[in-house]
Amino acid sequence: MIPIKTLMHRFGFILASSSLLYHIFIAVPTLADSFTVEEQGAAIEKMLSVIRRYGLNDAKTLEAMGRVSRHKFVPEKYRKYSYSDTPLKIGYGQTISQPYIVAEMTKQLQLSATSKVLEIGTGSGYQAAVLAEITPHVYSVEIIEPLLKKARKTLTENGYTDIRLRHGDGYYGWPEAAPFDAIIVTCAAGHIPPPLLSQLASNGRMLIPVGKRFGTQYLIMVTKNTDGSFTSKNLMAVRFVPLVRK
Ligand code: SAH
Repeated sequence: MIPIKTLMHRFGFILASSSLLYHIFIAVPTLADSFTVEEQGAAIEKMLSVIRRYGLNDAKTLEAMGRVSRHKFVPEKYRKYSYSDTPLKIGYGQTISQPYIVAEMTKQLQLSATSKVLEIGTGSGYQAAVLAEITPHVYSVEIIEPLLKKARKTLTENGYTDIRLRHGDGYYGWPEAAPFDAIIVTCAAGHIPPPLLSQLASNGRMLIPVGKRFGTQYLIMVTKNTDGSFTSKNLMAVRFVPLVRK
C-alpha cells in the first residue's frame, strides 16, 4: 500500500506536471506566432521596402506604418504572414487590406497632424492605427459589432486610445463629427454615398472603392472644391469586400 503522504506527493506532482504541460501546449504556439522586437523590426523593414518598390516613397506614410505592429491586428493563425504584402482574413468574411493598399490610401489622403479623418470599415483597426500615427483626430465606423469590439480591444491594448469608434452603417458617415478633411472607405460601394459627400470639408478628400460586388472596382478620389462642387479621379483598379447595408 502506498502511504497517503506519498500519494499526495505523487498527485501533487501530476498536478504540477499537467499544469506545466498545459503551459507548454498553450504557450508554444503563441510564442512561435509572435515576434521578438528584432524580428518585428526586420519584418516591418521588409514590408516597407516592398511598398517602396511600388514607387511609394511618402515619408509620412512609411514612418506611420513603420510604427504600427501589424501582427497585433491579425488573427493568431495568420500572424506569420502579417508583414507580407497580402490581405488576410480577420473573421466574419472580412479582410485586412494588403500593406501596399493601406500605404497608397494613407498617402493619397495627404493628412497633417490637424486633419480630421473618418474611416468607414474599421475591420481589424489596423488602418485606423496607421491614421492615428499621423493625426489624433480619427473616427471609424464598423457595421459588424463583434469586429468593432475586437478592434477596440486591440487598439486600446496598443495605446491607440484617442480613436473614436462607432458601431453602425457607415453609409451615413458620422454627421455629429462632420465636416471631415478626409474620408477613407475601406469597403466597396455600388455608388458614392451622398451623406459622405455632404460630410466632406471644403478642400477635403474622400477615397472610396466603387464598383460591383466582387467584380471590377476602382479606387476613386473625390475632392470637394471651395465652391462646393466635387471633382473625382479614378486612381486604380482594386478589390475590396463590399459595403453592406443594415
Ligand atoms: N480597414 C480595415 C479593413 C476593412 S475590411 C482594416 O484595417 O482592417 C472592410 C470592413 O468594412 C469590414 O470590417 C466590414 O464589416 C466593414 N463594412 C462593410 N460595410 C460597412 C458599412 N456599411 N458600414 C461600416 N462598415 C462596413
